[in-house]
This record gives sequence, structure tokens and C-alpha cells, in this order.
Amino acid sequence: MRDPYGRDVYDLRIQVTGRCNQNCIYCHSEGYSSGCARESFRDLLGVGDIRSVVEAASECGIRRVKITGGEPLLREDLVDVVWAISSTDGIEDISMTTNATLFSDKIVEALHEGGLKRANVSLDSLREEVYEKITRSKRFEAAVNGLIMCAEVFSLVKINMVLLKGLNDGEIWDMFDFARNHGVVLQLIELVDANKGGDVFGEFRVDMDEVEGGLREKAVGYYLREMQGRPKYYFKDGGVIEVVRPMHNSVFCAKCPRIRLTWDGKLKPCLMTNDVIDVSTALKNGASKSELKKLLEVCIAARKPFFSLTVV
Ligand code: SAM
Repeated sequence: MRDPYGRDVYDLRIQVTGRCNQNCIYCHSEGYSSGCARESFRDLLGVGDIRSVVEAASECGIRRVKITGGEPLLREDLVDVVWAISSTDGIEDISMTTNATLFSDKIVEALHEGGLKRANVSLDSLREEVYEKITRSKRFEAAVNGLIMCAEVFSLVKINMVLLKGLNDGEIWDMFDFARNHGVVLQLIELVDANKGGDVFGEFRVDMDEVEGGLREKAVGYYLREMQGRPKYYFKDGGVIEVVRPMHNSVFCAKCPRIRLTWDGKLKPCLMTNDVIDVSTALKNGASKSELKKLLEVCIAARKPFFSLTVV
């Protein structure tokens, strides 16, 4: 389905839980202020609810699903969630964003068998003390081990590294070597202004033009992805770095194909806005697929590019 700005909407990001076992200093909680720590079991979408929304979404043109949180691995029925999505007609790709700290070989295998194709592992630093400072957790070793397990099983793994001035912005090339050695892609993510207490954005924001300038100097190839116009840089000996620059980026918005579903059943047209469309009441009342499709259509119709009203 296309939104009023002509953008094809084919990607659904599902926050399967609001709970997390970390407390990153910058976390945007997927743009949903009722996120981490407030989750009540009564409101959490069940596997059947998620499946119903995905079935309806698939008929609205959704082909790709990204699972996120909170931390998805905190959900004991995560394998069931993955099977419920992968067995839905029309869904071609399922991936997950995770901090990887709760992985075991068994769970990685089960998720893979369930249809999870790709994983984004959040790893902001290779220095334990910096990792701990950013995530406010003591799970560095678990995260690295989890990443390595993923790299052995999934066809594509990316490291999500949010760049933070004075904390990890001097580590790009160390992280690049690490990623290349494990056959994974490094994704450098611009800090999004999440309105955290204090001025996290002002203090830690990195100039992404400078970062990309440094990448251009060393890269042997360049490609602009259709997905949110993300630049990808290719290096000698096989390394790849992708850059995600959402802030004040009209190209990013113009090429955004994504809507979101929160852990408690709200549809969000955009990460950056607080607008939500409630589907939880409809689900509780046993809504039909066509009723759910109508709510998805309302969400898609409400989309507008956050950083520009001109679609490039
Ligand atoms: N707990 C999981 C994890 O750590 O990947 C999934 C949830 S986390 C909110 C999803 C992704 O959003 C992570 O890669 C994280 O780094 C990124 N993220 C969170 N807050 C952000 C911000 N303010 N700016 C940019 N990226 C952010």
C-alpha cells in the first residue's frame, strides 16, 4: 500500500516487549514512552494477536517484519512469535534487533528454524568499561558471545553501533575490523534525539558528515540502498559499513517504508511522532481481518515524512 506521499509501505517493526535487561543512556524505546519497565502482562500482545495483525498487514502489502523491544529475548514465547510471523502468507523476510546477551546456541537454532533470517546485534563498544557505561549493564561478554553465535547461524548479521561523541566515536575502525573478522556488516547509527533527561543528544551527538567523509576516504565502493536511502560503503578485503542517518534527513524520510506495532497494541506511523492508532481494543473484541486492515489503513494514511514535507 502507498501512503499519501506515494511511499510504498512494506515494512512492519514489531516491539514484542517493552521490558529490557539493559538501560542504554540514549534509548528511544522505539519512540514509545510507555516502553520499558511499564509492561503489564494484561496489555502485552499475545502470539495470536501478533499473528492477526501480521496477517492483516500482509494483505495491506507488508512483506518484511523486524522484531524489536525492549529486549525481544526476554519473551519466553519468542520462538512461537517468530513461527507465527514466518508462517503468514506474504511475509518474505523476518529479522530481529537484539542486544544478544540472552542467546544460547539452542535459542539461536530455534529462531533460525522458525524462520528468522537476519539479526541486528546492538554492540556500541568493544571496550568493556565503555559498553557498561552506555548500556548501564554488565553484559559485555554475553553480548559478544551472542553476536558470535548469530554470525555462525544467520545469513546476515549486522552490528548496530550508535555513535556517541567522546564514548565510542574513536572506535569505528576497531569495530570495523571486528565485524569483518566475524563476517558481519557494521551499521553506524546516528543518535536520534529521544528527549531523554539531561541533554543526551546535545552531549553525545556526532557529526555524521565527518564520519561519512572518513569512510569515503578509505572505501573502494559505494551504494545507496532503497531502504531509507542508507549509504553503504565497501572496503578492500570484504568489509562493509552501512550508515543510518535519520535526523533532519529528508531522503531518509522520503524512502521510509515502515510502520510500527507496540507491545501493547498501538500502531505508529513514524518513530518520531507520538501519534498512535489503537488496535488492542479491536483485538480484545475479536476483530475480523477486515477490521484490522481498516486500522492499518488509517495508520498508513496518517504517515507523513517527519523531516520534510517534500518527497524526494
Ligand atoms: N534491546 C534491543 C537492542 O538492544 O537491539 C532492541 C531494542 S533497541 C531500542 C533497537 C535499536 O535501537 C538498537 O540498535 C539501539 O541501539 C537503537 N536505538 C535506541 N535508541 C536510539 C537512539 N536514541 N538513537 C539511535 N538509535 C537508537
